[in-house]
Amino acid sequence: MFQRAGPNAPNVGIVGGGYAGLACAVELVRKGLRVALFESGRVLGGRARIVEKDDFVVDNGQHLLLGAYAETLRLLRIVGVKPSVFDARPLDLYYPGEFRLRAAALPAPLHLAVGLLRAEGMDWSERRACLRFIQHLKAQRFRLPVQLTVSQLLDNAAQPARLRRFLWEPLCVAALNTPADEASARVFATVLRDTLAAGASASELLIPKVDLSELFPVPAARWLGRNRGQVYTTEAISRIVPDGARYQLEGDPVAARRFDHVVVATAPYHAAPLLAPFDALAPLVDTLNALRHEPILTTYLQYDASVRLPAPMIGHAGGLAEWYFDRGQTGGPAGLIAAVISATGPHLALPRRELELAIHNALETVLDRRLPTPDGILTITEKRATFACRPGIKRPSVSTAQRGLWLAGDYVDGPYPATLEGAVRAGTRCAAAIAQATTG
Ligand SMILES: Cc1cc2nc3c(=O)[nH]c(=O)nc-3n(C[C@H](O)[C@H](O)[C@H](O)COP(=O)(O)OP(=O)(O)OC[C@H]3O[C@@H](n4cnc5c(N)ncnc54)[C@H](O)[C@@H]3O)c2cc1C
Repeated sequence: MFQRAGPNAPNVGIVGGGYAGLACAVELVRKGLRVALFESGRVLGGRARIVEKDDFVVDNGQHLLLGAYAETLRLLRIVGVKPSVFDARPLDLYYPGEFRLRAAALPAPLHLAVGLLRAEGMDWSERRACLRFIQHLKAQRFRLPVQLTVSQLLDNAAQPARLRRFLWEPLCVAALNTPADEASARVFATVLRDTLAAGASASELLIPKVDLSELFPVPAARWLGRNRGQVYTTEAISRIVPDGARYQLEGDPVAARRFDHVVVATAPYHAAPLLAPFDALAPLVDTLNALRHEPILTTYLQYDASVRLPAPMIGHAGGLAEWYFDRGQTGGPAGLIAAVISATGPHLALPRRELELAIHNALETVLDRRLPTPDGILTITEKRATFACRPGIKRPSVSTAQRGLWLAGDYVDGPYPATLEGAVRAGTRCAAAIAQATTG
């Protein structure tokens, strides 16, 4: 239970209706503060949202959650989302005909040990090397030197080529959206600590059966509405205007409303222009502008209902798309396949039709059979999907040098790369810091 906000409770304006902003809003209301959230887009969810285009109603990109996403799962429960919203299954890295590693439904470390015993396409030396790698990380308590890359880590731990190709490098790109030779080994080790090394339930794959706006943002907005929080869509905030010790937001439909605190819960490249007018925030703006970003491209191919993958998610090591998802097996229309290409690469230079044909051909190779011509194809490129999770990058904290101005978002300092869990954690951490500032 929580205390309802009185008319004199501190008033917080939140700019951005992605997972971070909405998590922050829910937690602030639970702590007895008043909240108004402004989203510039038509739909809530930001980089994890529903898209309706060319007869497709899909997500802007296939998303996977993990059993380790404790804070996201807690927030989902609070706003009334049932666990049945996910297709939950043990971690299963499956490259048809080449390699398969499935975690067993057992406590750690047996889930992995038994998974390795049963693995397909791995010889004994590779199984031993995999366990040795986890031991190597455990011996260092998963705290690695800041400047180490994932490739250097794999070299140091003498990981064989096939394990790198089918296991560590795809896991690195999937989790950090950054290639292994540029990715932070420290962040990668944290992800492995909390998933693969933590046990079967933590490494469970949770594939949403509903769209990404309906998963959390829409139930969160409904929950906020029931609890006197205000959520506005299609309201872009163009400026944060100081007014004594408080702030007004240019773009707020309520004239002359003042906020005691403002949370900027946008992506870093949208936060920088909002924060730039504040002299005290010049170093922060430099930090935000120094972050680099990586794309994610998703191609949806709608085949007839006869097309079905051998599992809801299959990999193609070294292929054009690294992963294919069968949406028909996880709540979507039968025959709808999502092909995902993470990070920068030569595919971005291909003309769209050529790329889509190449993906269709690559899927035929993976499945080792001819496929019918798709009835429809939609490609969505998120050019700045996530920040590039490189060694030693500087990430700001939720508090800023400007009194009453706060940050939330997946890029804010934390143990995880740019993920839904990172965004939600930043949102709830920001709410806790504001609540403490208002009582302390
Ligand atoms: C294609 C793709 C695939 C991904 N796959 C995964 C995955 O499998 N698993 C995973 O955990 N994560 C994944 N991610 C990452 C995850 O989606 C992001 O980390 C997360 O959604 C970021 O949330 P956020 O709230 O920090 O920012 P955002 O989602 O960017 O939210 C910021 C919001 O602020 C709004 N805004 C901006 N400026 C203004 C303004 N001036 N006024 C009002 N509103 C404004 C924006 O419209 C946006 O809605 C993926 C991302 C992409 C793009």
